[in-house]
Amino acid sequence: MPTASPKVALVTGAARGIGLATAKKFLAEGWRVALLDIAGEQLTQAVAEIARPDETLALTCDVSDAAAVSAAVKAIDQRFGRLDALVNNAGIAVFAPLMETSDADFCRVLEVNLTGPFLCSKTAVPLMREHGGGAIVNITSISAVRASTLRSAYGTSKAGLAHLTKQLAVELAALNIRVNAVAPGPVDTAMAKQVHTPEIRADYHDAIPLNRYGLEEELAEAIYFFCSERSSYITGQILAVDGGFDAAGIGLP
Ligand code: NAD
Repeated sequence: MPTASPKVALVTGAARGIGLATAKKFLAEGWRVALLDIAGEQLTQAVAEIARPDETLALTCDVSDAAAVSAAVKAIDQRFGRLDALVNNAGIAVFAPLMETSDADFCRVLEVNLTGPFLCSKTAVPLMREHGGGAIVNITSISAVRASTLRSAYGTSKAGLAHLTKQLAVELAALNIRVNAVAPGPVDTAMAKQVHTPEIRADYHDAIPLNRYGLEEELAEAIYFFCSERSSYITGQILAVDGGFDAAGIGLP
């Protein structure tokens, strides 16, 4: 009997941070991975460092550009011939009060964090369907459920993505495609370094019951779980991976 080809994952925003850790987790589990990012140089470097050329595919692409996303999925089909998981991880953060949030920033945050996952999902589904289904994992945030003085754009984009998760879970179940979300608390990536002021950082440390930021690898574990057969009966769920922050019910810094 011929052996089935290894499973394939597409991880967006995979040049660094949570996305890169997730790509490495898939590889460690024997999957092939298409790593997609808008930052072409950083992506090339990350993929070179992984040094698994037969099992990886680097795709420079903006998730909010429909034509580019379509070309990326076509490249995955040509290279690997299947797609079993899509991790909508690419995201940007603008933390500012309403009056200091430009119209352009608000629109761009929605475009990348919400339209991006919509486009990637829509484009990936036909290829997933060819091999009997798959899994989509959206990376939301605790900002999707907690409001603050600084996150009118970011929090709104993530709340939209949380709802898109449930919407697609119901709609795509008929195609055997499960859709879940992972909602990270603070993780010390380049994004956090950009938007977490020393005050925000100190407040988070006090507010998180486990008393520390999360690690990229801890997020990758939860993301992988939702793509693996271990979660075969779970769809439409949003899992907070946040050291207990949400459970403690404390406001966002
Ligand atoms: P990061 O900034 O380190 O990595 C994000 C990656 O996405 C970067 O490599 C970037 O180049 C890429 N990207 C940005 N815009 C893109 C676009 N238009 N098309 C393709 N790629 C694009 O961030 P991270 O902390 O690893 O965040 C990953 C995800 O986790 C994001 O969706 C973020 O909102 C979410 N998240 C992060 C935290 C945190 O504290 N770090 C908390 C909650 C949620």
